[in-house]
Amino acid sequence: MYVNVPVLVIGPVATPGDVADLHAYAFDVCDQTGAPAVVATHNGYDVRHFSAVYVYGPTLSDGVSLDPVAVVLMAEAIAYGVDLVEPQPLILDADCEACGQRQTLTTVRDAGTSEVFCLDCRGEAPGCAWCLEDDETAPILVDGAWVPLCHPCGKRMGSEIRGGNAPHFAV
Ligand SMILES: [Zn+2]
Ligand SMILES: [Zn+2]
Repeated sequence: MYVNVPVLVIGPVATPGDVADLHAYAFDVCDQTGAPAVVATHNGYDVRHFSAVYVYGPTLSDGVSLDPVAVVLMAEAIAYGVDLVEPQPLILDADCEACGQRQTLTTVRDAGTSEVFCLDCRGEAPGCAWCLEDDETAPILVDGAWVPLCHPCGKRMGSEIRGGNAPHFAV
């Protein structure tokens, strides 16, 4: 059984607009990778608890001044050897040949045909992060993280969030 190890999504967080953009990116990360995506709004995360760090916005190699939160976490990811996934050039964006889902993060092409397939259509989606059923999931915001949940779990989690008993995916 696959255990969903969360990924950390980092980028500019100086303004509410920045944070909203980072959440939108984290939604895509969750949707396209099937991993819970924690939005880094401060630098108090231990990057070693994440299977990868996804960067939104400029990276160290761009030579521009970076958000202070993002730069700390980026440097730690490099120091600890955690996978740092930089934004994919727009030109590589493509639609899944089977279901049409737009692939914007890590477009995977079939080696033989160069056709593009999404995680679901490749049969590699890890399923629901809560009940671990191999069902179709949708990203649900739980405690600052976008978590891939099946429909029943998403509904249940929604009522638990309202009741104040949301599970903690953020590390
Ligand atoms: Zn697809
Ligand atoms: Zn579920």
